[in-house]
Amino acid sequence: MNYDVVIIGSGAAGLGAAIYASRYRMKVLVIGKDFGGETAKAGSIENYPGFDLIDGFDLMLAMKKQADNLQVETLDAEVMAIARQEHCFAVTAGNATYQTHEIIFAIGAERRRLGLPNERELTGKGVHYCVTCDGPVYNGKIIAMVGGGDASVKGVIQASEYAKKVFLIVRGKKVSAEPINIERLEKLGNKVEVLLETEVKELLGANKLERVKFSRPFNNSDELIIDGLFVEIGAVPNVQLAQSLGVELDDRGYIKVDNMMKTNIDGVFAAGDIVNHFGSFKQGITAAAMGAVAATSAYDDHKIHGELCQYHALPSP
Ligand SMILES: Cc1cc2nc3c(=O)[nH]c(=O)nc-3n(C[C@H](O)[C@H](O)[C@H](O)COP(=O)(O)OP(=O)(O)OC[C@H]3O[C@@H](n4cnc5c(N)ncnc54)[C@H](O)[C@@H]3O)c2cc1C
Repeated sequence: MNYDVVIIGSGAAGLGAAIYASRYRMKVLVIGKDFGGETAKAGSIENYPGFDLIDGFDLMLAMKKQADNLQVETLDAEVMAIARQEHCFAVTAGNATYQTHEIIFAIGAERRRLGLPNERELTGKGVHYCVTCDGPVYNGKIIAMVGGGDASVKGVIQASEYAKKVFLIVRGKKVSAEPINIERLEKLGNKVEVLLETEVKELLGANKLERVKFSRPFNNSDELIIDGLFVEIGAVPNVQLAQSLGVELDDRGYIKVDNMMKTNIDGVFAAGDIVNHFGSFKQGITAAAMGAVAATSAYDDHKIHGELCQYHALPSP
């Protein structure tokens, strides 16, 4: 199966790229492991232009519908390997291999973990990384959120709809979130307690999380009994596939792109949370915008180099 462009990732960057590439009349395949990426799990989105408030999953469904209407092919699968064949690439996902002229990496980042010894064993058993996905289980319970940035504050606000008490555990000296979210946090009053300059040092419990141990005492104890712990401490970019092609990273481990989302490898572009563009400002709107730019660069490259590839998918428009 031959394509002009294979887009890896079906989040805002991937679908933004797909919509633009298909309107350039490129033959497009989007391969995505989890439909909608992080936006689909983000809960309420109130800062995406055109919508006062929309659930992240619904926003991603709207993008997918738009891509479907433009005949974008999509595949729910994980890309396991990519091989370079002169100016073309062979992308392996599931049991199939797809030939393409251009690649756009839109594969976002994985949630960062605390790095504590029994964290993996307790994941899903009291330790979680997504309030939208797992928050409702804690209806009427006591939970804690580890974080301090905007995503963690949004998570606390959302979790407070179910939980009877939420502790926000912040390593630093202050909470850094959008002012509107700080105001909402403050309005929650006693339901939320913020513990500054505190770290979770141990997760205690055999088959299920029962308590956490802190780096310093709170209410005369360094342990807190909770029903669940949510971790929202940023993300680690998914760069292994890109590295296998020799794509350059910046010193923080993000894919290095120029203003047109080109990497150092011909025919390879990247967009969204995976790239160094816009620094640490990572949002749905910037991801979708970078996807549009990456598609435009892939289209320009395809016009110049398309015929170099023996797997020519469609005549250049
Ligand atoms: C809790 C939370 C709340 C947020 N709230 C907001 C908000 O209110 N407004 C806002 O604008 N932004 C918000 N964001 C940020 C926003 O979600 C991200 O900036 C956005 O999702 C980035 O899009 P992306 O497409 O770059 O990456 P992602 O959304 O991470 O998508 C990456 C895609 O790549 C896929 N993938 C990864 N590896 C592979 C592979 N090997 N093969 C195939 N597919 C692969 C994934 O499955 C996924 O489909 C929030 C984020 C979080 C965590």
